[in-house]
Amino acid sequence: MNLSAIRAFRPVLTPAAILLAVALALTVGPALPPSLSGLKTLGPYVVLLLGTGMGVWFNRGRAFIALASLLAAFVGYSIAIEYGPASFAARAVFTAAAILVPFNFLLALVFPERGISHHFNYRWFMLAVVEILFVAWVASAGRSSLSGTVWQDLLEHWLLRSPPTPILGRLLFIAAFAAAVARTWPKDPATETRPLNVGQAGALVAFFIACEWVDAPGAFGAFMTASGAILLLSLLQESHRLAFRDELTGLPSRRALEERLHGLGPVHAIAMLDVDHFKSFNDIHGHDIGDQVLRLVATRLMQVPGGGTAYRYGGEEFCILFPELRLAEALPLVERLRTDIAAYQMAVRRDDRPKDPETGTRLRHLRSPDKILSVTVSIGVAEPEDPRSTPAEVLGDADKALYRAKEAGRNRVSR
Ligand code: GH3
Ligand code: MG
Ligand code: MG
Repeated sequence: MNLSAIRAFRPVLTPAAILLAVALALTVGPALPPSLSGLKTLGPYVVLLLGTGMGVWFNRGRAFIALASLLAAFVGYSIAIEYGPASFAARAVFTAAAILVPFNFLLALVFPERGISHHFNYRWFMLAVVEILFVAWVASAGRSSLSGTVWQDLLEHWLLRSPPTPILGRLLFIAAFAAAVARTWPKDPATETRPLNVGQAGALVAFFIACEWVDAPGAFGAFMTASGAILLLSLLQESHRLAFRDELTGLPSRRALEERLHGLGPVHAIAMLDVDHFKSFNDIHGHDIGDQVLRLVATRLMQVPGGGTAYRYGGEEFCILFPELRLAEALPLVERLRTDIAAYQMAVRRDDRPKDPETGTRLRHLRSPDKILSVTVSIGVAEPEDPRSTPAEVLGDADKALYRAKEAGRNRVSR
């Protein structure tokens, strides 16, 4: 497996670790001391409420719907179980939760992400109200033996029979999981897997385990907590990503570079790279093709050897940091990069991509290229002049060297 593949699947580690930790705690872990037993009952509420609130705060419609559904399922089942685990109310609410939660996940995944303001419009609100009222009504109707027999019989239908998870719930789970994985699968080497998409798949798995082991003591609450925690953490990872990763190219952003600069040691080299005549390139080929070219250049920069990391500095300017190299060691690597990019025949597609960026990427990969284009870059490289030079000064020197490369005729490396 190459490096970019490992990078692409890094977000899977968090949900996997949470699931593993919960499973281990349940099977081999010691029982909670009595003073902490409140954690078991409060834990799921805290995590699910916090996650739902954070979904609103970060304006993430899909995560919000997922977390709100999990919260409603947990609250509903906690109320119903008061009538006894074998009671009609508990069985009805469990069956409904096992069906409606993956159903809501699936609905949210099928529609494009447009934030809470869109997702939380009256249709979603109505859906939530209808689901909750319907389940509450069935759960209470079924308890009276008169009107309840119809519902009692319905719960015995082969699609709905439980425990554990009813067949219909399993089918919806498979559909929702497939939809989440389809959203997650990296279609483009430049785009890292989105933590939130992975989070939805992970949360579904946790919810499915919670349903399958609903009768095992403590398991339902623990895996519901895991499900909420997976989504909550993926929301945090997603917002970190938004701050530190450039959306267009998938490279770390200028903010990430600035944080990294503080931690550099006395030996390092910095290269500043700027695409040549990119303004007229845009004028000739259009801004969208310009964007594609920046992405393709970025994929080359990601593969820079020598422990270098590429950042998008802004516009068509990039910065490469070599935290352990001297200037003399970095120069040949950078020169190689320059010739690679100049020789790179980039296949670009005329842009008529749909609004949804995820579908857009998929379509672009299906079509044959419309044009083969190439660009050249100019690069300036610098290292600390004396031990007291700060990384910011080195970056300034690299920028001056870049200017000299441009002056000298572009498509070259200058120091
Ligand atoms: P030089 O060789 O001197 O660098 O010429 P240049 O035209 O590249 O230089 P200049 O800095 O004047 O222009 C940069 C251009 O890069 C301006 C803008 O059209 C283009 N650009 C900046 N950011 C983006 C971007 O995100 N996407 C696209 N498509 N173009 C961008
Ligand atoms: Mg520029
Ligand atoms: Mg330029």
